[in-house]
Amino acid sequence: MSVRGENTVTGVSFGRFFYGGPMIWNTLRHFKITERWGNPGEMNGLLLILLDEIRDRYGCQFIVVCGYAASGHVNKSQHYLGNAVDFYIKTSDTYHEQILKIEKILKELQVDDVVGLGIYPQSNSKIFHLDVRGTFARWGYLYKDYCSYELARDWAYKHPKEEK
Ligand SMILES: [Zn+2]
Repeated sequence: MSVRGENTVTGVSFGRFFYGGPMIWNTLRHFKITERWGNPGEMNGLLLILLDEIRDRYGCQFIVVCGYAASGHVNKSQHYLGNAVDFYIKTSDTYHEQILKIEKILKELQVDDVVGLGIYPQSNSKIFHLDVRGTFARWGYLYKDYCSYELARDWAYKHPKEEK
């Protein structure tokens, strides 16, 4: 029998966290339940497995900034469903190089057309948004407004010095 769990240390309830079987968190190679997932129990396991594989292929550390959230994102955000993660990559690659690598890995994994990918070249930490919405979505964010993915990607290419 599986039981909806509550972490007795933190008091955080894990909505999708079932006792009685192998925990997905134990199967991930590069991420821990203690990172900034919001509520880790609400995270979509498919996203976690995908993120772990992308991280493995990239070969650099991914820092989770946000996972599940109950508020604070755009209307109907995939974060509210636990389907999304925001992260940045600890690397000497420029952000444009990071974008190209992520695109390549998504194609290699044959998930390119079923994920949402947002790029934020002006963000302090050069974050990525990735979600497993099941359909293709791409966007960028520049000068405090959403824009086309291509525009933001091009901006990142033209502004390599904006890298931290
Ligand atoms: Zn996001």
